[in-house]
Amino acid sequence: MTREQAKKRMKQLQSVIEHHSYLYYVLDRPEISDEAYDSMVRELRKLEEAYPNLIAQDSPTQRVGGKALGKFRKVTHRTPMLSVQDVISFDELVAWKERLSRVVPDTSLDYYAELKIDGLAISLTYRDGLLEVGATRGDGIVGEDVTQNIKTVKAIPLRLRMPPEKEIVRFLKKYKDIDEKKFRQRVETLKGTIEMRGEVYMTKDVFEKVNTEARELQREYANPRNISAGSVRQLDPKITASRNLNFYAYALKDEETFGLATHEQAHECMKLLGLPVERSAEYCKDLEAACNYQEHIQKIRPTLPFWIDGVVVSVHNNELLERLGVVGRTPRGVVAFKFPPEQATTRIIDVAFQVGRTGALTPVAHLEPVRIAGTTVSHATLHNLDEIKRLDARVGDTVIVEKAGDIIPKVVRVVKEFRSGKEHVISIPKSCPICGSKTYRREGEVALYCSNPKCFAQDKERIIHFVSKKGFDIEGLGEKIVEQLMSAGLVQTAADIFALTVDELKPLERFADKSAQNLVEAIEKSKDIELSRFLYALGIRHVGEETARDLAQHFTNIRTLQQASLEGLQAVENIGGVVAQSVYDYFRQEHTAALIGELFKNGVHIKKVQVVSSQFLKGKTVVLTGTLESLSRDEAKEKIHALGGDVSSSVSKETDYVVVGADPGSKYDKAKKLGIPMLNEAEFLKVLSKD
Ligand code: NAD
Repeated sequence: MTREQAKKRMKQLQSVIEHHSYLYYVLDRPEISDEAYDSMVRELRKLEEAYPNLIAQDSPTQRVGGKALGKFRKVTHRTPMLSVQDVISFDELVAWKERLSRVVPDTSLDYYAELKIDGLAISLTYRDGLLEVGATRGDGIVGEDVTQNIKTVKAIPLRLRMPPEKEIVRFLKKYKDIDEKKFRQRVETLKGTIEMRGEVYMTKDVFEKVNTEARELQREYANPRNISAGSVRQLDPKITASRNLNFYAYALKDEETFGLATHEQAHECMKLLGLPVERSAEYCKDLEAACNYQEHIQKIRPTLPFWIDGVVVSVHNNELLERLGVVGRTPRGVVAFKFPPEQATTRIIDVAFQVGRTGALTPVAHLEPVRIAGTTVSHATLHNLDEIKRLDARVGDTVIVEKAGDIIPKVVRVVKEFRSGKEHVISIPKSCPICGSKTYRREGEVALYCSNPKCFAQDKERIIHFVSKKGFDIEGLGEKIVEQLMSAGLVQTAADIFALTVDELKPLERFADKSAQNLVEAIEKSKDIELSRFLYALGIRHVGEETARDLAQHFTNIRTLQQASLEGLQAVENIGGVVAQSVYDYFRQEHTAALIGELFKNGVHIKKVQVVSSQFLKGKTVVLTGTLESLSRDEAKEKIHALGGDVSSSVSKETDYVVVGADPGSKYDKAKKLGIPMLNEAEFLKVLSKD
């Protein structure tokens, strides 16, 4: 990027970030996710690092987000209420430490880590022990006086607690580096001003309740931070009171006047004074410990009663933290170690059409690489032509890309404010990008198809599907090798794979004696296969893993299935008209019989079907989330099927059980919300033993 281009991009980023900040902070009505917003701020920050001379004075990185609303009295903070710089990986955490070491060389650093609760920052000022002012952060310098509303939050004491002598003594014994005289002078008298800062938040349960009511009035809140903010910034304190808000304190101002040496001591001191302080906070002797803490918190995140978006890691020593100072709008010695985001912004460089095994052309956006959910993403699906139209996506556009769990990354939104006019419309291919045959659209379908059933790309995709994990599961036979074998003319149909020899493979690039031998052995091993896997591997339209299993259970052998009538197929449990028709048509095609015949000739053998005898989970739908210790996902699925149950990938009202392993995902939250019975691993194993 040239300096001119960077300058232009920075200007655009600034203006788009300003726009979304306004929607978020002032109107409490964001239009994009926090992750997408953070991604733009990160891009701007990176450019500012590369071109420090171009940093605008009013850049969003130099200021704290909000603005005090006119409807409240304004309060000037005694010291600015800052924002926190974020990091999203261990490497960035290390880079942060390196920056610190440049400012305080030869100093060993330790840290304190705590939850970053997703709510609204509030400053509480107590005078002579009594709550005098509750204020929002506003623009960091000037906030809003929301004292009356804050007084309705039951967790916030209206009067500070004077700790009894016994507790003071215990505290001083525990922390020997405290200046006792100063400490006693402050907590025994509570004289003068004591300011504490913390987060007003709403629990998940209350959020659901309040948002259900708000939804009925068409005023749904996008996230917990907005609902907390909306509730605190009410003109009528009765409304705030009805919202059941909660509070945790995380910072004690003027710690040195208390004689305190570390951030942990500040936390403990606030507890003594009667403020609620979250209990998971932990001392971390180094960055590895902070990283372990963040990983642990990420695991238990779904079980927490409130939302968090990361953990805050602070330099532990107060004096050092003070010395490290402030950069822009953030304290240098503090970072928010956020969880891997599932959304980020990036740019579409190009769009290509990929041909799948059904011949459908899928538009795939080539992206400027971006980190999402812990991996680098450079491609995202645009699904089909209708989706391109709906998004109005163009080459050159800045887009929001999402990647959650194992899902293929997808473009969810175009940020049109970035358009320069040079973007170009994605042209619809008239011919297949692989074989050059004409493309066409089937009636009632959104997909575009290649008209040539013998198209190399389709054949290749069919074979990749055939050998994939849920099909023949041939180790070492990935996409690249399939393509290589096809290009070398060794494989034309799936059946050819089973006739491959070591001598044929050895001369090929990427192959040596050992690897050729290994592949032939893996192929040999895969020849003995369950009927359900065999059916899945064939790649019949609409026949996924579950349908293949239903067909296998019903017909128990391939011959009967091949000869089944349409009515016979429609009679299979869980199989509807469209699927039945597709299976019926598939077995009427000439090349199907030829392929199956060839497969058997080359040694493929279908195992005898074990008909489900136990009906313990019959008709029940089970969802798996998290990692089980004693079983892999596939093994767990097989066991559920063996008991007559179905496995679904998403939780809905129809779900009967959710099996929860370690580190569960959002399915856990959803199941909890819907009140679906949940089984932990031990309970699940007990169910499985009922066959
Ligand atoms: P930040 O993310 O920089 O973090 C600072 C805030 O964290 C504090 O003000 C405080 O409220 C909170 N916090 C919680 N626990 C804390 C702890 N233990 N110690 C210190 N602070 C703690 O805050 P920011 O600059 O206000 O940005 C807020 C968030 O707002 C960002 O994550 C951003 O994604 C979001 N945002 C979203 C949009 C949007 O359009 N979706 C727009 C603007 C901002």
